[in-house]
Amino acid sequence: MLVLIANLGSTSFKYRLYRMESTGQEVLAKGGYERVTDYAAVIEDALATLTKDGVIASADEIDAVGFKTVLGKDLSGCVLADDACVKALEDFAAVAPAHNPPYANGIRQFAQSLPNAKLVALFETAFYQWVPEARSTYALPQSWRDAGIRRYGFHGASHKFVAERSAELLGRDEVAAGTAALYQQGPAAITGKPLRVVSCHLGGSSSVTGILNGVAIGTSMGFSPQSGLPQNNRVGDLDSGAIPYAMKTLGLTLEEAERQLTKDSGLLGLSGVSNDIRDINEASQAGNANATLAIDHLIDSIRHWVGAFAWQMGGLDALVFTAGIGENGRELRAAVCAGLEEFGLVLDEQRNAACRAVEAELQADHSRVKVFVIPANEELVLAREVYRKISSLS
Ligand code: AMP
Repeated sequence: MLVLIANLGSTSFKYRLYRMESTGQEVLAKGGYERVTDYAAVIEDALATLTKDGVIASADEIDAVGFKTVLGKDLSGCVLADDACVKALEDFAAVAPAHNPPYANGIRQFAQSLPNAKLVALFETAFYQWVPEARSTYALPQSWRDAGIRRYGFHGASHKFVAERSAELLGRDEVAAGTAALYQQGPAAITGKPLRVVSCHLGGSSSVTGILNGVAIGTSMGFSPQSGLPQNNRVGDLDSGAIPYAMKTLGLTLEEAERQLTKDSGLLGLSGVSNDIRDINEASQAGNANATLAIDHLIDSIRHWVGAFAWQMGGLDALVFTAGIGENGRELRAAVCAGLEEFGLVLDEQRNAACRAVEAELQADHSRVKVFVIPANEELVLAREVYRKISSLS
């Protein structure tokens, strides 16, 4: 089965073509476009390139297209990307304005360009379907909750990959298999000794997820991808009282407050330097106090959420770092793991310093808690889910 994974950003389009078999998979091609203004044109160009390069004889050979959609109103899981799915994305466009409109448009475009292919959406919220209600609920009046305001969770494909891979690395293949089949079969039956993992997806956008026996039990993200850890340009956790107060005292309109919280905040807002941790690190080393504060705030927030989930799960077997900052940021990893000897977590300094963007174990030999770097592979999770979904239809 040929599965095209379409990654649609607000101004970018990236793709990866997989050959999926029941025994494994192979990446046949990948490519992408930046500064996109005409999605129809780049999608047609990508399909023409795959044919011209001889990867496929014709675009009709593509069996399915997978979309890593963010969140939909009253819709989650791994579903066919039909009109109802597009409507669910559009109904929550205001909650994820950078993500939902490109996906709604992209799905429509692919339906035209590849009329015979099956279109499948895997929602980023899907991994959080089994978070206990008490933890996904905000203490709001019924009318707000009826409007769909609750904690959803994002980066689901990335954290699911970490859940599967960390279980394999810990020799818990039955948990890995249960996690792999999660959207088809529901939560894996929890048997034997619990496996407690906290996954830190730290990149341009960041979140921490608690994973018990391969199933997410909580997330730092909330109603929108605008809460939890400080993001590159987005604020992260903020007291709801701060918004009306800032609007009144700073004379901001709602639109301007929203813009500042999504574009001028996070690591950029705090450091005043950049939204990229590499620039912020450089500025911090040169003595910029705001840059140092931004890094310290990120570290503090990660530790806060890791601690919360370790407590909720009654302990921790593995702490995992993934995505751009998690895979590359050795100083940050060391700071997140500092002073936890009593808790049974000891980082090996040399293993940590040597690890850059490769799968690795970073704990000291005597550390009870494992510390892994697992490079992100959201596309693979999506390709596998699309394969499972299509296989289950036939
Ligand atoms: P992602 O969203 O996973 O692509 O991660 C992007 C972020 O990872 C960038 O904004 C950087 O802050 C960070 N990053 C990427 N490469 C490095 C590196 N070599 N060292 C430290 N941070 C990095």
